[in-house]
Amino acid sequence: MSDAPPPVVSRNPADPSDILVRLPAPGTPAATGAVERARAAQPGWLLGGAAARSAALDAIAAAVEAAADELTALAVREVGKPVTEARAEVARTAAIWRYYAQAPYEPTGAVHEPAAGPGLLLTRRRPHGAVGLITPWNFPFAIPSWKAAPALATGNTVVLKPAPEATACAQRLADIVRRAVPAGVFTVLPGGAAEGNAVVSAADAVSFTGSTVVGQAVIRAATARGIPAQAEMGGLNAAIVLPDADMDTAAAHIAAAIAGYAGQKCTATSRVIAVGAAFGPLREALAERLRALAVGDPADPATVCGPLISERARDRVVEARRALPEVAVAPVPSGSDGWYAAPTLVTDVPPGHPLRREEVFGPLAVLLTADDLAQAVRITNSVPYGLVTSVHTASLDQALHGLDHLDTGLVRVNAPSSGVDFHLPFGGTKASSHGPREQGHAALDFYTAQRTYALAPTRP
Ligand code: NAD
Repeated sequence: MSDAPPPVVSRNPADPSDILVRLPAPGTPAATGAVERARAAQPGWLLGGAAARSAALDAIAAAVEAAADELTALAVREVGKPVTEARAEVARTAAIWRYYAQAPYEPTGAVHEPAAGPGLLLTRRRPHGAVGLITPWNFPFAIPSWKAAPALATGNTVVLKPAPEATACAQRLADIVRRAVPAGVFTVLPGGAAEGNAVVSAADAVSFTGSTVVGQAVIRAATARGIPAQAEMGGLNAAIVLPDADMDTAAAHIAAAIAGYAGQKCTATSRVIAVGAAFGPLREALAERLRALAVGDPADPATVCGPLISERARDRVVEARRALPEVAVAPVPSGSDGWYAAPTLVTDVPPGHPLRREEVFGPLAVLLTADDLAQAVRITNSVPYGLVTSVHTASLDQALHGLDHLDTGLVRVNAPSSGVDFHLPFGGTKASSHGPREQGHAALDFYTAQRTYALAPTRP
């Protein structure tokens, strides 16, 4: 029996006979070599100057925009993202590169007065070196970009280890980025756990997004090496609906957050908590919205919910809802080999049932009740995750109570739980996140370490 890592394979989830990538696994020496080459290229990239880095990031943004149709079609085919969402992801990817194109000109520190005597005290942020990025498949262009753009802007070089399921998207992004930067500055290393692990063992800093189990192992390995690390992981996000909410709007937001991209977003809603008298109207409005949802071919612009990423992911959803009373189920396309699961809202989920505590990562949510907002907040906070909560209410007081008491990294009022602005910090609490925030200015801090300089005259 061979110890070689498994081949890297990616298939079209809407038509599994359509194979996009089949490669022998590069293996751990290739991963180590990629990091070494990135480390060798890093001083040149940094010393090349702010203007060169800014121009490179701008050129990448322009190239993403120019290739938007092709990148959109690739995401639809490789990860089954509905085309409307895929197009929005590509547009956002260009915006991310353009936003960070300004970052090389940002101040990197501050000037302080010495506590005593003449001279200057300075702080300055410096890059770590060669950073390893380990990414999931669900945002195949945006997540690699929101990590790579701030890393490159601040003078690091990058080795990206994408999820096997999104290898073709990552390789296409690499074609674009490599045209704008010197050799060795940005490398995509296809592979799975073995290559990811090797990147963590060799890099000067690590940024991970993916499941909580893997993320925690990555953090342990990075901590043992003493390198900076951040991990964005799973979620079990709640939508809290108060009786004074506009029920139809709330139901539209929540249905989209449950079933958009088949619930395969870390910010998807998987628990709906109706407070008091909201239960009846919400149940009805949400059931209607879910039943009307367009499930099917991700290439169809009307589709909201496409296939799951794999057969295993589809089976996990079907298994998780087994034997639970269904409030609403959307019909799935017949006669397709795609890995579809019907968007479903279930009710009467007993205490202790895994659906109340574990992420399924599919178009499935439980409907729960609470007597008042305080109880809804307690239910929301009772799980090991803390990524995002949506609160639906017309009352500013109720919304403010939510902001003060919800233990999640994001709270969105009268908006779907899914949805992220790339120029603000992003991340959660508890098992959802570890380490500094991603995106916005926070990312510039993660990809740099602070130095303190003291300058004194030769003679006091
Ligand atoms: P995953 O954890 O299976 O894989 C993520 C990445 O880690 C992949 O590149 C994978 O190849 C790599 N990997 C696997 N084992 C490894 C190991 N031992 N060492 C190093 N790397 C390893 O996750 P996935 O299925 O690709 O993505 C789905 C998960 O991602 C969900 O849990 C979802 O909630 C989460 N997610 C979180 C966010 C967020 O920002 N919080 C965003 C998107 C997805």
